[in-house]
Amino acid sequence: MLIFQKVAELQQFLTKSQQSGKTVGFVPTMGALHDGHLSLISKANESCDISVASIFVNPTQFNDSKDLDKYPRPYAKDVRKLINAGNKVLFHPKAEEVYPEGLDTQIKVKFGKLTSYMEGRFRPGHFEGMANVVSRLLDIVGPNRLFMGQKDFQQLSIVRSMIEQQKRDTELIACPIIREESGLAMSSRNERLDPELRLKAANLFKTLQWSAKQLGLMDIEEIEQKALDMLTQPGFKPEYFEIVDGKDLSKVENAADHDSIVACLAVWAGEVRLIDNHILKGERLVMGYTAKKVIIT
Ligand code: AMP
Repeated sequence: MLIFQKVAELQQFLTKSQQSGKTVGFVPTMGALHDGHLSLISKANESCDISVASIFVNPTQFNDSKDLDKYPRPYAKDVRKLINAGNKVLFHPKAEEVYPEGLDTQIKVKFGKLTSYMEGRFRPGHFEGMANVVSRLLDIVGPNRLFMGQKDFQQLSIVRSMIEQQKRDTELIACPIIREESGLAMSSRNERLDPELRLKAANLFKTLQWSAKQLGLMDIEEIEQKALDMLTQPGFKPEYFEIVDGKDLSKVENAADHDSIVACLAVWAGEVRLIDNHILKGERLVMGYTAKKVIIT
């Protein structure tokens, strides 16, 4: 695996490769890699000649500086995992490479309400920071395909909108959520859960699955309220459980009026904030929908 820290060196290598007809698949990450990340690398390797992963803990998307400090950075382990997964190129830049002095990295894209729902209510500024860094990384890497996880459903919707507005020539590939055996969605944050809470956190996915079964049988508000009750256990504090339209993330009132529906949640498990989601209706529409540049795998 080739490792680059400098933008210029990475670009020189990738430009040459693309000029010789090779395609590039890009997987941006913040490191602390698990099988969820590695599933994206596999997808990139299956459909592109060169998989490029980045590890960059982007300071501008953390609204809580304690969360940024505590974010795990097991670099040597990550490198080993990437090599074992067959990843071809790792980009591991310092902040000054991503945000060089004098370069305006602020994007001019309008997200409307996409950034104010759900996560936007609890993590002000998070999506703006995320979108800016993804845009900057796309400028640097210039991939043919970008691979991102459905785990961060709202993030996926925002990046999809950004790519469309910027008219980028990059296909966004939405990849399914990889879960632990218990059903808990894999996350770099799971390592920080105490073992008892980690076991009990299986309840998040169970609640999402339960909500899928209630669709059409119970009022949406009632499902949401009951789900919040189910998530409220000793050690667990839910922030939201919302059933939303899979395309514009607006609140669903009547399931029959929507072609695609997703249930999204955020829960504090002790000191650790967990998010998860589940597509309740129209999987192909949600993951691959309207945008020409989005593909379902
Ligand atoms: P992160 O390092 O948390 O920023 O995540 C990097 C990428 O991995 C994002 O596109 C995430 O959506 C994706 N990802 C994280 N966890 C999972 C998972 N459990 N299954 C699939 N993709 C994931």
